[in-house]
Amino acid sequence: MKSYQPSNKVSFSGFKWLICASLLGGITIGGISFLLSQFVYIFFIFPMGMGSLGGNCLTYAIQKGKVRNPLLSSLLAGVSGLLIYGSLFVGNYWLFQQRFPQFLSPLEQETLKKSGESIDEYLQEKTGKPGFLGYVKYSAQEAVVIREMLNGDFAINETLTWLYWLLELSIIEGFIITLSYSAAKEPFCEPCEAWYNQPKRLGNVKSQFSQDFLELIQDENYFQAAELIKANSPPYSPSVEVELQRCPCCKTSDVILKLSRVKLESQGGLTLKPIQVGLITQQQAQQFIEWVHPQSLEQPENWVSLLSTDRITIKNSDQFLPHGLQTRQIKEIVQQLAKFWAIKTAYFIQKQVQTLPEKPLYILGVVRRRPLGYEPEIADIKLVHQLYDEIELPE
Ligand SMILES: [Zn+2]
Repeated sequence: MKSYQPSNKVSFSGFKWLICASLLGGITIGGISFLLSQFVYIFFIFPMGMGSLGGNCLTYAIQKGKVRNPLLSSLLAGVSGLLIYGSLFVGNYWLFQQRFPQFLSPLEQETLKKSGESIDEYLQEKTGKPGFLGYVKYSAQEAVVIREMLNGDFAINETLTWLYWLLELSIIEGFIITLSYSAAKEPFCEPCEAWYNQPKRLGNVKSQFSQDFLELIQDENYFQAAELIKANSPPYSPSVEVELQRCPCCKTSDVILKLSRVKLESQGGLTLKPIQVGLITQQQAQQFIEWVHPQSLEQPENWVSLLSTDRITIKNSDQFLPHGLQTRQIKEIVQQLAKFWAIKTAYFIQKQVQTLPEKPLYILGVVRRRPLGYEPEIADIKLVHQLYDEIELPE
């Protein structure tokens, strides 16, 4: 599969969008963060928030301005990150000027009053530099915030303070550059001047077939690859999700085929980790869809009905029927379930559905055997995913 390469094109209006988002966005986000920091400032969390806010601001500009140049976007994102963090210091410098004598110890205040020194003279004397630079150096020497927070037990030195600031700046830059770079790398149809639509799900591949599937795709054997895709099963871990992404306007530009591994998070949520993204022709995509969804050709309306709410949810008020399967089919299910130690009892029934009643909808319910001792909360969800991945049920 060919991979998508951005054209690196930026129009004049796109450039204006970028500059605006980078400069104005940076200063605004920095300013707001400064105001907030007067009430609360959480180390590392705030920089992450500032970076992702800045990244979102630039992403918006990249989309609106149709900027397809990841490098230029990253560069201006970098500038924006500097402005965000810099504004925080400028804000604090302003505050320092407003409340200057209060920052000093009573003894120092007394000396200052006698000598009649100005702020700049004071900074010059302390750090060798007047103005903003002098203030930044002065804050590094004082490291006010951290020392207060640790009750003065741990005096952080100047070098450490600089390193800490560098770390915070890197966090901001990391977020803002990554977000902007990937936004400008999104697929774009040059003839139509339009961003591609969001990826549309085609189906998924069971983990046991995923290796074969990836090899078939590598060999551009879409016909055999399509046979491994299940179109009507929900995303579960560790399956491979198959998605297509195309231009919203034309039927000629290449289509993006996106394959991602589904990961089950510790909180129970699912995340997609792309493992292969490439371009296929419109014709290949069309064939691929037809092979995966043969039903969509025969009766397109049936295909939509299969995914109606009635067919994908279970409620207490639903009517249930006996499964009506043959003994051989039931035996097959029992054999497959027997491999799961965690399943104590299984129930297999049919739900009475209003949509497409001629196509039976089966429900498999299981009662779990619980191990002694600690078990993570997610164990139940894991079992459901495992069932999706490992057993074959009649359709
Ligand atoms: Zn197009």
